[in-house]
Amino acid sequence: MAKSTSKNWVCPFCSRPQTVTDGQEFRRTEYLSLREHKYGEAGVSVAALACANPECREITLTVYFTKGEGTWDTYRAKEVVASYPLRPESTAKSQPSYIPQAIRDDYYEACRVRDLSPKSSATLARRCLQGMIRDFCSIAMSRLIDELDELSRRVTAGNAPAGVTPEAVDAIDHVRSIGNIGAHMEKDVNVIVDIDPGEAQVLIELIELLFEEWYVARESRRQRLAKVTAIGVQKAQQLAVAKAATNYGKLAAPAANPVLIPPAASLRNPVIRAPSPSLTIGVVVRTAQGRPS
Ligand SMILES: [Zn+2]
Repeated sequence: MAKSTSKNWVCPFCSRPQTVTDGQEFRRTEYLSLREHKYGEAGVSVAALACANPECREITLTVYFTKGEGTWDTYRAKEVVASYPLRPESTAKSQPSYIPQAIRDDYYEACRVRDLSPKSSATLARRCLQGMIRDFCSIAMSRLIDELDELSRRVTAGNAPAGVTPEAVDAIDHVRSIGNIGAHMEKDVNVIVDIDPGEAQVLIELIELLFEEWYVARESRRQRLAKVTAIGVQKAQQLAVAKAATNYGKLAAPAANPVLIPPAASLRNPVIRAPSPSLTIGVVVRTAQGRPS
C-alpha cells in the first residue's frame, strides 16, 4: 500500500533534504504467522523511499522487525524491535568527489562494519584520519603519533591549513589511541578492551565533522573566491567595452552626418546606417584601426 505522509527526510545517497510527498514512499507490512515465539504478535515491514532529486532518484530500502497487535489480516505494528538498512547498507553519508577516493572508501567501510565489528571500524576510522592528515595537511611520517605532533606544532605556529583547529588535533589523538586497540590487539590477547558500536560511531562522526571543516569548507571557499574573480573579470571586460564604445563615439562624431545606432550596441553588431555606401566604408575602416583607449 502506498502511504500518504508529509515528513522531512534527507536522502542518504545525495544528502539532499526534502519533504516526502505522496508516491515517494511505499511501505508494506506482513504478519509473521508463527505458532510460538517470545514477541507476542510480530510482523515485518519493508519501507522504500524514492529520492526527489532529479540528479539522484535513488531508492532507500529498510526492513523493520516489529511487535504489534492483531493477526494475519489485522496486524498493526506498535513497536520496532530492530531495523535493517538494506539500501544503502550503512548510515554513511555520501561524500563529495573532491575528497580522495581512498579516504572516502575507508570512511564508507568504517560505517559498514560499525555494528558487525566495532574494532575494525575504529581501525578504519584511524586510518581514514591518518589519510586526511597526509592529504589535507601534507604531513607524512611513519607513525600517526609523530604526524599529530607535527600538526600540533603547525597549528600552534599558525601555519596549518585553514580549518585545522587545536580541538580537532586533540580529538584525532583520542581516535589514535582507540584505533590502536583495534590495530594492535593481537599483541596482547589477554588485554581485551572492547569498543562498542556507539563508540565506533563517535569516531565516524569525527571524520564527518572534519570532512565538513576541512574539505567542504575549503571547496566552498574556493568556489566563492572563483565567483568573485569571475565578477572582476566580467566587470573589467564591460569597462573595456564601454571605453571602446566612448572612443568609437568620438571617432564617429566628425563623419559627415551618418545616422548611427547607440555606440555600445554598435560595437557588438556594427551596423551603420549611413546615407551613402562610401560614408559607411569610411567609418568602418577608421573603427577597425582603433585608437588607444
Ligand atoms: Zn538522493
